[in-house]
Amino acid sequence: MKRQRLAVLGATGSIGVSTLDVVARHPDRYEIVALTGNSRVEVLLDQCLQHRPRFAVVGQDQNVAAFAERLRNEGLATEVLAGPAALERVAALPEVDAVMAAIVGAAGLQPTLAAVRQGKKVLLANKEALVMAGALFMAEVRAHQAVLLPIDSEHNALFQSLPADYAGNPARAGVSHILLTASGGPFRNTPIERLQTVTPDEACAHPNWAMGRKISVDSATMMNKGLEVIEAHWLFNVAPDQIEVVIHPQSVIHSLVQYVDGSVLAELGNPDMRTPIAHALAWPERVAAGVAPLDLPAIAQLSFERPDFERFPCLALAFRALRAGGNASTVLNAANEVAVAAFLERRLPFLAIAKIIAATLDTLPVREVPDLAAILTEDACARGVAHELVSRWQ
Ligand code: NAD
Ligand code: MG
Repeated sequence: MKRQRLAVLGATGSIGVSTLDVVARHPDRYEIVALTGNSRVEVLLDQCLQHRPRFAVVGQDQNVAAFAERLRNEGLATEVLAGPAALERVAALPEVDAVMAAIVGAAGLQPTLAAVRQGKKVLLANKEALVMAGALFMAEVRAHQAVLLPIDSEHNALFQSLPADYAGNPARAGVSHILLTASGGPFRNTPIERLQTVTPDEACAHPNWAMGRKISVDSATMMNKGLEVIEAHWLFNVAPDQIEVVIHPQSVIHSLVQYVDGSVLAELGNPDMRTPIAHALAWPERVAAGVAPLDLPAIAQLSFERPDFERFPCLALAFRALRAGGNASTVLNAANEVAVAAFLERRLPFLAIAKIIAATLDTLPVREVPDLAAILTEDACARGVAHELVSRWQ
């Protein structure tokens, strides 16, 4: 069998590490051509020693020569590159079949687009790319016949619960609604007054999933589900009114498709990202992921609630941005990244995150974004506004 040749963007993060765990279980199927990291160079070094890639990319401010020297001393011929242009280069290499897009935030957009434009198989974890630039991103996928496979557990579940020939046509497939499940995060039942003073570590202590810090805060505000609503809209061509969020604290049902005849199809499993990663890596085949089988009697109860839009205003803001169209989702994403970073650095209280995002949306008029340049301008503008609002926050 010809091995699938992979570039893993964001290899040193939570999704990247889980990806390499699955890859290491199947050396007969997968081969690593490129690994990228930003600041965690020690982790990247160990990953290079294990997977012996042709290319490694580090962050712009890292010492490339020193890193290359350490790899050479270990007998590796890995070429070391740095910065955003190098990320795009390794994503587009002719010898790469599939790209895992697992950089967090807006930094992932352009490398992921570079893979799409080469018609690669793209395993998309970087949901912010679709939130920032959904229309353009999907148009590029179609134009270059890229194969886009969702890694986000909800969207991977939806992909598995939709017909194989779905092709973005909910009416033809008889799809009535998409039901996105959400755990509700660590603050589902926390008294609202207490949310004033919650710390970054409390916000990052997710009950079911171990993830990077940015997405963990997004889960605590439920902006993560908001971003996923927008992601689902672009991936599956469903209208905002066809997307419902259901709180499901056990995170066993990863999402559901409601059909017009009343049937509801879902994908279930233990909350372990290696399942959607293995699904996308092997698709349309299946490979073992190292995930324990689901033990339903041990779980005993699956429960459901409606989301509380007052407790979680970020969820309402995301629906607002999706309905507004144009630049609004780009602005939402940028303001969220700025506010979450400020919260993680203890410059902003938790409850101010939604306020900064709402105020940024209120400040910038809704405009069309015809191309990537316009999207990047909106992103920069929104970051400017949000930074200013954060700096004036008392
Ligand atoms: P993480 O913070 O653990 O890892 C982020 C990765 O991106 C790291 O490898 C880091 O080096 C790299 N990176 C960060 N900034 C960069 C920059 N400016 N330039 C180049 N590389 C940069 O994040 P994560 O939890 O692995 O999440 C990655 C993406 O996957 C996010 O978009 C997240 O929303 C999505 N996702 C994650 C999970 C999860 O379980 N962790 C689930 C669903 C979706
Ligand atoms: Mg998710």
